[in-house]
Amino acid sequence: MIRQAQKVRIYPNNEQKQQLAGAMGCCRWWWNYALNKSLETYQETGKSLSRSGLNAFLPNLKQEHEWLKTEVYSQSLQQTSLNLSRAFINFFEKRARFPRFKSKHGKQSVGFPQSVKIEGDKIKLPKIGWVRASFDRRYAGKIKTVTITKDRTDKYFASIIYEVEACFVSGNGNKILGIDLGIKDFAIVNDGVKTSKYSNPRHLKKHEKNLARKQKKLARKQPGSKSRQKARKLVAKVHARISNSRQDFLHKLSRKLTNESKVIVVEDLNVRGLVRNHKLAKAISDAGWGMFVNFLSYKLERENKRLIEINRFFPSSHICPNCLTQVSRMDLNVREWVCNNCMTHHDRDEAASKNIRAEGIRILKSDGTADSASRETVRPNRGRKTKARQDSVKLETACDSEVAGGSSSISLSASNYDKP
Ligand SMILES: [Zn+2]
Repeated sequence: MIRQAQKVRIYPNNEQKQQLAGAMGCCRWWWNYALNKSLETYQETGKSLSRSGLNAFLPNLKQEHEWLKTEVYSQSLQQTSLNLSRAFINFFEKRARFPRFKSKHGKQSVGFPQSVKIEGDKIKLPKIGWVRASFDRRYAGKIKTVTITKDRTDKYFASIIYEVEACFVSGNGNKILGIDLGIKDFAIVNDGVKTSKYSNPRHLKKHEKNLARKQKKLARKQPGSKSRQKARKLVAKVHARISNSRQDFLHKLSRKLTNESKVIVVEDLNVRGLVRNHKLAKAISDAGWGMFVNFLSYKLERENKRLIEINRFFPSSHICPNCLTQVSRMDLNVREWVCNNCMTHHDRDEAASKNIRAEGIRILKSDGTADSASRETVRPNRGRKTKARQDSVKLETACDSEVAGGSSSISLSASNYDKP
């Protein structure tokens, strides 16, 4: 059994909107309360509260605050406890930043871990009833959890996790791909014969200009005014558009590469460290490398293919792929170089992708699975399984748009080129 996620737009009526607002408010309140308790515990002991430790607060709180009983389905509060304890696990395992308090101006959500039904074009939520929804496709699996979100543009969505039989048709690709992730080009892929470069979608730049303009407008508005609220929504809309087109690009690219390959080798970039320490921060976080590797990871896993993340201290850009001589460190703006030993001329990114691929093959050989791609990760203690699970909630839209072909016009044409 594997989990499949789907995100659909839902259209609650006015009464349901009010009920959802109440439930979301309760969950937000509980999240903030529980986070505060966890912070206290964390400061005292260096540990966080477990899910059951958090749930133990609930009976008393319900006595104290009647609305925690009337306005929200009790399972939703427990789902919030689970989400928070997972957020802490992700933080401790260095996959996410420290959990943050939720604002009533941000995205709102409420989770339903059980008792949700789907029939026709409707979805039934406990305490709220049947809500109209637009499904673009159906899954035959059992519904596990449903999370309802309201984004900052007041649209409502249901993210549904199903448990389905694992029966994905896998792309029949048989290649081993080495990928170097870059800034000028998003991904440089070497398949042992040729190198392909995939650049970031260009229209993201256009959106970013638009965003800057709208943010400036927002900054000029009077705090608390109606026009400020409006401007805030406009900014949120552009943000949503940017993140959608980025996800769309990352999904299409990861799908294409998954189809072509049986093994994909990437550098474990520890993106977070880079983002913190480097001047390239914006470019890097915009580049979405972490998300991309995560997409690759779960797509490959589903199809019983393999992702190898090689050590980030592996000097991928400082080895001559031809004669394996290590060269001295180069500044990031050195794009081409000549090997002192064999005099081969190299494109920096292409050389890196070749080296990454070669290192992946070395790892495959050393653990004896070079010929049969297997699903376990090379370094099980640092696997990203938990993350893939967690993130699948966020990935669903894109999964769907990917299958449906999506509506945006991102092209994935690679600029192939051959080196002399
Ligand atoms: Zn050389």
